[in-house]
Amino acid sequence: MKHRNQVFDNVLDLVGNTPLVKLNKITSKFEGEFYAKVECFNPGQSSKDRIALYIIEQAEKKGILKPGDTIVETTSGNTGFSIAMVSIIKGYECVLAVSSKSSPDKIDMLRTMGAKVYVCPAHVKADDPRSYYQVAKRIHQELKGSVYINQYFNQLNIDAHYHSTGPEIWKQTEGEITHLVACSGTGGTISGTAKYLKQQNPNIKIIGVDAFGSVIKKYHETREFDPKEIYPYRIEGLGKNLIPGATNFDVIDLFVKVTDEDSAHTAREIAKTEGLFVGYTSGAATQAIKQLGEQGEFKKGDKIVVIYPDHGSRYMSKVYSDKWMKDQGFFDTENQEAAESIQYIK
Ligand code: PMP
Repeated sequence: MKHRNQVFDNVLDLVGNTPLVKLNKITSKFEGEFYAKVECFNPGQSSKDRIALYIIEQAEKKGILKPGDTIVETTSGNTGFSIAMVSIIKGYECVLAVSSKSSPDKIDMLRTMGAKVYVCPAHVKADDPRSYYQVAKRIHQELKGSVYINQYFNQLNIDAHYHSTGPEIWKQTEGEITHLVACSGTGGTISGTAKYLKQQNPNIKIIGVDAFGSVIKKYHETREFDPKEIYPYRIEGLGKNLIPGATNFDVIDLFVKVTDEDSAHTAREIAKTEGLFVGYTSGAATQAIKQLGEQGEFKKGDKIVVIYPDHGSRYMSKVYSDKWMKDQGFFDTENQEAAESIQYIK
């Protein structure tokens, strides 16, 4: 880091070195100490800053990228935002091919960050020339000197976390970490972090979090891709309907599946108990801890680190909207109070 007295050359110097924050209430009925790696402290408010910066800098080192060249990716999510941010500082064009299911807010956010956005029809097959995969591929092939990040199949996604998230957690826990709990989407975070941690201490237990409706957990257990596992779910950022090449299944000890509803309530509970306003998958990861805790997974002296990948502000029209929660049928009698906590003075 090139900074003194908290003065930085540019926003990219703020990527990484995120804090570990002790969880004091939400996990208090379980043995062990629990710490959240709070990734919204990255300047782009998510863990994806790490992979965007790392992958682009690797391409620069290999001489693939020169100023004015183009970076291409297929996401309206956190990775798109991070690539746009890195592109601004380093002087690249950023082209994002996104699905027409992406919210207008997300597209506006990417446009604000200088990205050129192609909105592609959501309901076409992946091999249709109009799909966002094919549009991104075509742009990448046509533009000499462009880089396609391809986060689901890029080994550098794993390397980024091997070189940053893993060593940070090892140092922050002074080597005392016993468990890592992380959601698996591309699998880059859990695979890279776990690889580093297991090299330091092979006994550290690595727990992946998967969604109902995703193929990942079953694949880990059987090495079989089972399309029957696939059905729609609401949490964005974890689970998948394909086997990502950026997941190293060998360094993960077990997967836990969580529901949309439990994860949503747990995300809200994190805000109310810990004062941490984090995203839906932070709720999912904490929900997995609760399920494991009930099964007696944790014992006195354990140090459990859970990754909180992003900030709550990206979910205002979803998990943090009472209307959305109601529309999903997530406010049952038990949670009715939360739905009625606003009082309008007339
Ligand atoms: N949470 C959120 C909000 C994400 O955007 C992602 C990335 N898809 C993840 C968790 C999972 O991280 P990874 O892709 O490294 O497995």
